[in-house]
Amino acid sequence: MKQDYNATDELTNFIDEDLIWSEIAEAEKADKAQVRDIIAKALERNGLTPAETAILLKNQDKDLDEEIFDAAKSIKKGIYGNRLVLFAPLYITNECGNQCEYCGFNAKNRSLQRRTLTSEEIHKEVEVLEKQGHKRLLLVYGEHPKHDADWIAQTVRDVYSVTSGKSGEIRRVNINCAPLDVEGFRKLHEVGIGTYQCFQETYHTETYKKLHTGGRKTDFLWRLHTMHRAMEAGIDDVGMGTLFGLHDTTFEVLGLLHHCRQLERDHGVGPHTISFPRLEPALGSEIAFNPPYPTSGHEFKKIVAVLRLAVPYTGLILTTRENAEFRRELIEVGVSQLSAGSRTYPGAYSDPEYDRPDVQQFCIGDNRSLDEIILSIAGEHGYVPSWCTACYRMGRTGDHFMELAKTGFIQKFCLPNGLLTFKEYLEDYASEETRKAGNELIQREVESYDDPKRKKILMDRLARMEAGERDLY
Ligand code: SAM
Ligand code: SF4
Repeated sequence: MKQDYNATDELTNFIDEDLIWSEIAEAEKADKAQVRDIIAKALERNGLTPAETAILLKNQDKDLDEEIFDAAKSIKKGIYGNRLVLFAPLYITNECGNQCEYCGFNAKNRSLQRRTLTSEEIHKEVEVLEKQGHKRLLLVYGEHPKHDADWIAQTVRDVYSVTSGKSGEIRRVNINCAPLDVEGFRKLHEVGIGTYQCFQETYHTETYKKLHTGGRKTDFLWRLHTMHRAMEAGIDDVGMGTLFGLHDTTFEVLGLLHHCRQLERDHGVGPHTISFPRLEPALGSEIAFNPPYPTSGHEFKKIVAVLRLAVPYTGLILTTRENAEFRRELIEVGVSQLSAGSRTYPGAYSDPEYDRPDVQQFCIGDNRSLDEIILSIAGEHGYVPSWCTACYRMGRTGDHFMELAKTGFIQKFCLPNGLLTFKEYLEDYASEETRKAGNELIQREVESYDDPKRKKILMDRLARMEAGERDLY
């Protein structure tokens, strides 16, 4: 019989903690030859099992770690090329009835000024973001009982209704909100959300219980099945994640991979993206200042690289929580999506009053503007920033997208489409310096095409853009 994911008393924990600990214990016994065999297997781009992933994470040999990084770079380059998807988070509300001990929006935090944007305020925020050149947003919400699925759906409509950018409106709205029931997700699907994102935070039930002390989020299983409910409601693209620093790093990565595999078993496709926030200092949270399982820079880079080997076709998302220098290293070993120019307080894009470190959700490590970030990633590092949303707009989502990704589709179609959106940005929003550096990069990219037919199509479209046409793909 088909499982009813809405029925809270029927939900079971498919994360087998004993199995994960035994996979970790086995991994500790692995020798160098095993590590090398797994790296070789990963290079075939068919992914890794959780047990194999554990062996890479538990490897202590520095030279082998470098081989893991090299393999991740090669897979990243082979599948994604030098394209990087950019987005901005848009905080809609910081009102929250939950008590997550690590978050500044915790209901017990009396020193935080609470704010929920009205439709008019959402319009103002979106106008600012559109004028900076953004095309993809991630809407972020606290979880408050008064904010139901209808209300969330209306905020999405609000965002899509703003058309103030020179080259059009926001083209993809992703959502990071608390778990809903299947009917609630249907409402979000109907208003055209892109990815539904929700992080399990920790897959370790005891830790979860200890850190979620009040509100709806205390229910581990309700959260664990949220992706199943979203997919049941027709949302093909879902984004998973864990918050590193709360529990054992290897345990969390394995929990995440077991979650991906369960979703694949039950719905035929795993997550579209994975995020891996690292615990940052947050207003009013003691644990956020003293993580019980601090993740070092090296460990964090290894998580990214190993995920790139374990789930090669899943987008890996990095946020502004990490500083600029480190972000660069992480992009090389696997990150494919990046947030840029972020503010983590509702209203902070349009009103400087809310753009202060003491009111944000957590501390931002990279405070540069979108234009400065683009100048750095395109000008200094040769990455092509992309705002492409063609697949989503043409219905290529979920397993359909995964199948295409496996055939080199990203290199063949996403990269040229990305170049076109980059050209659009340069024409309409970039500073003089960024425009010059960006156009040089586009020129180099076009010259590197060896297929004359594709090269011509791309050159024609770039010329049409220079002549004023927009939204070509
Ligand atoms: N309220 C929704 C929820 O909890 O799923 C979504 C919004 S919540 C602000 C988004 C994510 O922020 C959480 O899932 C958590 O992983 C992350 N977060 C919370 N506190 C953080 C901190 N101190 N440092 C880094 N990330 C944090
Ligand atoms: Fe609320 Fe989400 Fe923060 Fe928890 S993580 S306090 S649910 S906003």
